[in-house]
Amino acid sequence: MSWEQTISGKIIYGPDAEVIEGYIVIDDGIIKEVHEKKTDSQLIIAPCFVNAHTHIGDSVCKDPELGETIGHYVKRDLGQLVKPPDGLKHRILNSTPRDEMIGAMKSSICDMNYTGTCAFADFREGGINGINLLKEALNSSEIEERIFARPVQTEDEDKLSAELHDLLANADGLGMSGTNDMDMSILETAREQASKHGATFAIHSGENDRSDIDKALSLDPDILIHMTHAEKQDLKKVSENDIPIVVCPRSNFITEVGMAPVTKMLDEGIKVAVGTDNVMLNSANMFSEMEMLSKIFGIDDRQVFMMCTLMGATILGLEKTGSILEGNKSKIMIINGNSNNLTGIRETISGIVRRARPDDILSVMI
Ligand SMILES: [Zn+2]
Repeated sequence: MSWEQTISGKIIYGPDAEVIEGYIVIDDGIIKEVHEKKTDSQLIIAPCFVNAHTHIGDSVCKDPELGETIGHYVKRDLGQLVKPPDGLKHRILNSTPRDEMIGAMKSSICDMNYTGTCAFADFREGGINGINLLKEALNSSEIEERIFARPVQTEDEDKLSAELHDLLANADGLGMSGTNDMDMSILETAREQASKHGATFAIHSGENDRSDIDKALSLDPDILIHMTHAEKQDLKKVSENDIPIVVCPRSNFITEVGMAPVTKMLDEGIKVAVGTDNVMLNSANMFSEMEMLSKIFGIDDRQVFMMCTLMGATILGLEKTGSILEGNKSKIMIINGNSNNLTGIRETISGIVRRARPDDILSVMI
């Protein structure tokens, strides 16, 4: 028996996030119909977010010391915190019991659901064991995931090859730390294996400075993460090769690496999506990313909304996700347009991007 539901309100509709008044009909998890019609409903029906870059494995460490306190100022020194293989993050991950790791990741997945995210892409450390932990944490969750794994066997070439094969049979691709953290020959092997498996090769690049950008580009990656220090010529190359970028604004702020040139990326026609990065540094709440992109980066609200929804889905190859359209999956959030926070907003997209919060959500369907 099929299960049909009708919801009325302001609908953020289609690939251009046009706001229409009307109702949608959902049948068995699919958007069956969308109709324009005058309505008194104060509901806002929006596509769910796609969080295009996370490290939810470090959900076990949410309040690390950020650096040295000088007077009232904390001088950030996060490089050593997240750097593989001996940074604090990796030491904590290695010493945390399996059940605790899974429980912490589960909480982050539930938090993503609660805050309106229907899909995420995780850079998973810890080789095959790391993949298995995340899969256990995902057990029975409806959220869609992309797992980009990372090898641990980097000393021996044969072992590396065998491990890469194993990883790629169990994950959606590889998510590498960066070309300054690892020997290029390992990264080249990883790239080659990912291509052979038809899998995604994603890599951090240009986060602290631009010293690893050329090397990252030489690997012909499928997705670049950060590119905070990319210059015009870098973005030209990225655009020419049609490589999408995932930016992580809040992460870049807390690590004090600077502001990514997001408007320049968009000007070059690059597909730009958004991620919350390490749970250790930021909650997985995409509303916070939207507010920052709108208010601090000064990016057009509709563009911000697209980057956090459809663009993430496009980059990650998540079909029929990221927008409200007939035939798409009904991964939607119902927002209370009459909440104390949102009542009186005139421009739906701007209202949501600049000021909506998770507590304005009435329900999330994923
Ligand atoms: Zn990252």
